[in-house]
This record gives sequence, structure tokens and C-alpha cells, in this order.
Amino acid sequence: MIPPTTAPTSLRGTPVVPGVAAGPALLVHGEVSPEAIERFGDGGFAGPDVALAAYDAAVQAVADTFGRKAEKATGPAAEVLTASAGLARDKGLRGAVAKNLAAGLSLVPAVDAAVEQFVSIFTTMGGLMAERVTDLEDIERRVVAHLVGEPEPGVPTPGVPSVLIASDLAPSDTSGLDPEVIIALVTERGGATSHTAIIARQLGIPCVVGVAGATLVESGTLLMVDGEIGSIDVVTDPEEAAARVAESREARAALASWTGPAVTTDGTPVKLLANVADGPGAIQAKDEPVQGVGLFRTELCFLNATDEPSAQEQGEIYSQVLGAFGGDQHVVVRTLDAGSDKPIAFATTAGEENPALGVRGLRLSFGNPGLMDRQLEGIKLAADRTGTETWVMAPMVATVAEASEFAGKVRAHGLKAGVMVEIPSAALLAHRMFEVVDFLSIGTNDLTQYTMAADRMATDLAHLTDPWQPAVLQLIAITAEAGVQARKPVGVCGEAAADPMLACALVGMGVTSLSMAARAVRPVGAQLSRVSMDTCEAAAEAALGASDPAAAREAVRALLTA
Ligand code: PEP
Ligand code: MG
Repeated sequence: MIPPTTAPTSLRGTPVVPGVAAGPALLVHGEVSPEAIERFGDGGFAGPDVALAAYDAAVQAVADTFGRKAEKATGPAAEVLTASAGLARDKGLRGAVAKNLAAGLSLVPAVDAAVEQFVSIFTTMGGLMAERVTDLEDIERRVVAHLVGEPEPGVPTPGVPSVLIASDLAPSDTSGLDPEVIIALVTERGGATSHTAIIARQLGIPCVVGVAGATLVESGTLLMVDGEIGSIDVVTDPEEAAARVAESREARAALASWTGPAVTTDGTPVKLLANVADGPGAIQAKDEPVQGVGLFRTELCFLNATDEPSAQEQGEIYSQVLGAFGGDQHVVVRTLDAGSDKPIAFATTAGEENPALGVRGLRLSFGNPGLMDRQLEGIKLAADRTGTETWVMAPMVATVAEASEFAGKVRAHGLKAGVMVEIPSAALLAHRMFEVVDFLSIGTNDLTQYTMAADRMATDLAHLTDPWQPAVLQLIAITAEAGVQARKPVGVCGEAAADPMLACALVGMGVTSLSMAARAVRPVGAQLSRVSMDTCEAAAEAALGASDPAAAREAVRALLTA
């Protein structure tokens, strides 16, 4: 994508949090002024040790800032701020600064070179580590600001509710945001899983990421941000903009009060399920209008475990989730999806050249079959103990033979067997997959990553890591059609299921269940309950026929609002 070079009047990006907001642009440049850096020069330190002591003092001040912000924040925001404080104090980074000083660099260039070195390491590692590049660059700016005697850069507090625009936002920028004052977020970089997106979701404010040219907008320009279709337009008619904001607010309030069940206007039921990671999450999800769990990410129970829990111990952990559901509800347990962006000490091997394409998910059991056997035993124990209907699926399945072997093992425990469709090969062979499994569940996060060859965490590839990409939709449609032919269920459990407009198109393709973060269930259910199956099928056709994600969103929106 070629970014515009002059102040634009209309921009497009990847929508990540729906809603419409209008207000003046507030730009975050967040850079330390070059004049202050020039004035500081080499700092006049008596030697490398004295310069390093000044670095230590600046780092301590930055870590204290993060610590104070973390104390005021809650949930994921507090966690990322605490992590940033730790990263600022990182010994490896300090060691690199000391080495650069000893080699004769003055302090600011020594810090710059050390951060560069770590940015390059993190970028090469990819996944979650690459996401931390923004944090590192933020830490560098803050440390340098302290050294040269400027205030730490950050989000200014506007006098009126404003649309925040930045190249990218670090957790320290987004953590203290007040949704009364910052009414929308727009960034040039960042994907659907970036910090910006996570915080915007938490604050419930419209957010569009991957917007090329956003920082060319002049501060104060009156903008309207549409977080559903990903547009940012200069407001020419303030009254019309105010009406659209009010309409969107009302629509969101109506969606939030929906209580189910999800049935299209002509009576076709759609199963809505929750994605959960542990017992407390399952108990929370139970309060939403869901028919169970469509994705229990078991690996998230073991992120901090150094040793593999026994089958009995696993059974107890899984029972906490299964026990929250019963009756006609069911729980789909996913076997360990360790590796790549989710390293688990007892399961994954470090140092892979290309971990996203390496030994992750089901592949871990090829060299260690006991890992799978013990997990299936644990799941069976939990299913028996709770009496909850339990389905089991494997992640990262590439071939029908893998699916067949896995299904055999699951069925030997008397449980229903399925696999995830996350690799294009699985989608293309969905009809043959159905000869060996009871159900398929499409993981659109990874399916998009592997179809578009774009790291799902890459902050500059949001336009590619978009499930509305026509190639991704084609693979979903192939999988859904295979389910229709086989008369077996096809679910979607990636982020795509949480997008109310896309949900309609997915159902129109033949998808039978949608599993998502519990808080996304009501808006999706309310949208589905307002449309007929004919409209869903038309939405599927329109999305599949569109040339790009923006055109697909427009076409589906036009159909759903007709
Ligand atoms: C997916 O890939 O869409 C999925 C649901 O799995 P995860 O996000 O846990 O990789
Ligand atoms: Mg996945």
C-alpha cells in the first residue's frame, strides 16, 4: 500500500472495534526533540561508568513511571505496563549499552544502538516477541527524554473529546486513556491483536489500525471514525456526523441488551459458543447467552508450568471448565496448541528457525505421543467427572492422515473428534477430512496468517491479516460447503466469528456455529437474529465476490442495512 503524502480527507484501514465517533484529531508524535538531543551532546560524562550510571538512573525513572501507571490500571493494561517496567530494566539491554559505551560511543547513540540490536532480534523471532518492538522503542524515547531533560513523551490530554492518531501506540500510551476524552483510536501500524486493539476493545471505543497516511492528518481536523468498516473521513457536515454517531450509539446499546437465542428471522438456529482459557473464564462466559464452549485453549492453562501435569492433574484443571456447562451445552476442548507464539516449557523446543511453520500444535505429539495420550486421558477424566458433553479437536492439522490418526485416539476414549482448519491444505481437503472426523472448526486467525503468508502479529501487515481477504473467505466457503455435503457441523472459532457482519456471511456459507470471546456474543447474536437466511446467503455471495476486504465489508453492510 502506498501511503498518501499530503493531508488526506478520507483514509481506510483495518477495523478492529466497531462504532462511530467524531471529534478533532489529536496527534501523538511521541518523539524527543532533536534540538534537546543536540544540546545534550555527549553528556560530558567523566567516563563510561559514569555514563552507565546516568543510564541506570534514567531507566529507573522510566520503570517507576510504568509502575505508577500499572498501579492505577487494571486487567491486561496493568499486566502490559508491569511487563514494560521489566523490559526497561532488562539486563541484556543494559549489557549492550555498557558494551557500546566501552567501544567509545557516547550515551544517546549507545542506547540507540543497543535498542536497535534488540529490535532486530525481536523482529527476527516474530510472534509475540515482534509485538514488543513498539514497547522497546517507547522505552528508548522515554530513557532519552530523561537523559536530555525533557518530559517523557506520551499522549497529551485534550481539552475536548478527541480522536487519537499515532504511528503506533505503546501500552504506556494506551493504559491511562479515558474513553470520555479519547473517543476513537487510529494507528498507522498495528494488527487486530496489537496492544492498541486490545486496549480499544477494553475501553469500548471505535478503533481502526493499519491506516496508511494517518499521521499526515493535521491536529485539530474534525474527523469521523467508523470502526465497523475501517474508514476515517474529514467531517464536512457536522450535523450529519452527529446523527451517525448517535445512531451507532443506539445500535450498540440495542445489541448489548440482546439475550438470545440466535435464530435467523426464518427460523434457522446458529450455535453461539464461547472461547475460554480457564475455569473463571468459563464461569463468566456462562452468564452470556451461549450454548457452551467452542474453543477451550488448554495450552493457556500451562503457560507458567515447568513440568507436564499428570493426567489426573490435567483432569482437575479441565473439570473447572467442563463443570461450568451441562445439559444441552457442550464444550470443545482443543488439545495443546503449544509452540510459536505460545511457548510451553514442557512441550516446545526453543530455537526453531521459523516457529510459526515449525513443530507446533498437533505436531508436538509426533515425537512425543505420550503428551497427547496423557492429555486425552485428562480430558476423558474431566468429561466423566462432570458429565458434560465433550468434543475434542486438534490444532495445526495439515493432512487427512493426521486427522484420521487423531480422531482414532479421541474416539477410543468415547469422545467426539474433530480438527481445526488453520492450514490451507486442511480447508482444500475439508471434504476428505469429513470422511474421518465428526466436525471441523475453522481457526481464522491462523488460517489467515498461513493463507496470506503474513505473521498474525506483524504490526505492518494488518491489511493482509484480515479474515475478509477474498482468498481466506474462499477457503472458509470450501470448508463450510464440505460440512453441508457431509451433514456435519462446521464452526468458526477465530476472531472472525466475533465480527457481527462477517458472522452473517459465514452463516450464509454454511457455518453452523460461531465461537468467540464471551463479550462479543450479544452483538453477533443480535445481528444474526435480525436477518434471514436468504440475506446471509446474499452476504456470503457478496463477500466472496468482492475484490478486497474494504469492498467486501461495504457490500455486506449495504445488504444488512437495506
Ligand atoms: C485461530 O487460529 O483462529 C485460533 C482460534 O487459534 P489461536 O488463535 O489460539 O491460534
Ligand atoms: Mg490457531
